[in-house]
Amino acid sequence: MSEPDRNARHAARMARKKALVDAAIAAATDERGLLLIVTGNGKGKSTSAFGMVARALGHGMRVGVVQFIKSRTDTGEEAFLGRQPGVEWHVTGDGFTWDTQNRERDIATAQRGWTIAARMLADPAYQLVVLDELTYLLSYGYLDGDVVLDALAHRPPMQHVVVTGRAAPDALVELADTVSVVADEKHAFRAGVKAQRGVDF
Ligand code: ATP
Ligand code: MG
Repeated sequence: MSEPDRNARHAARMARKKALVDAAIAAATDERGLLLIVTGNGKGKSTSAFGMVARALGHGMRVGVVQFIKSRTDTGEEAFLGRQPGVEWHVTGDGFTWDTQNRERDIATAQRGWTIAARMLADPAYQLVVLDELTYLLSYGYLDGDVVLDALAHRPPMQHVVVTGRAAPDALVELADTVSVVADEKHAFRAGVKAQRGVDF
């Protein structure tokens, strides 16, 4: 095929594609608060949620963040995003459960975090709420799943919520509007690379 023919074919294919995309965009007219889940075993769940925090702040929105499990105290996201005007940032976890090794204390910590989250989920002033690593507290049974689902389902209609963590429970996935599963194809840690500043924390 000659170069001009190839260009003409490409232009026709792109025009057909554009018509389809434009029609899909025109058909999407709803506007409401969304529940997003970022789950899976790959790297990129929390950083995806914090990317949305940056987006929302860029639009002047008010954001609430609750980190339910925190393995370190020196993260770049908290240092930077946590001090931006418009953000309320809470870290409630003491570490991963295999660090603390104290179930009673973990449950009390989970409840403390949930009290803050529940307040945000009842307040329309928070336009985006991030519940980072919430899934673990559900899979370990540290929080009552029905209570959490009920609060999410009855939150203010325009409020967006992002939940992160591995193994999101089915009922949560069911309730969500957008669910992304990050796959673990490769991770540098398994090649012996320690957590890198600016990438892993
Ligand atoms: P990130 O915060 O980088 O987006 P994440 O939220 O997807 O990661 P978590 O399970 O919360 O992943 O783990 C947080 C830390 O563990 C990060 O430092 C991350 O790089 C690292 N990590 C994430 N996934 C893996 C993996 N599959 N193997 C090893 N380390 C991982
Ligand atoms: Mg995470």
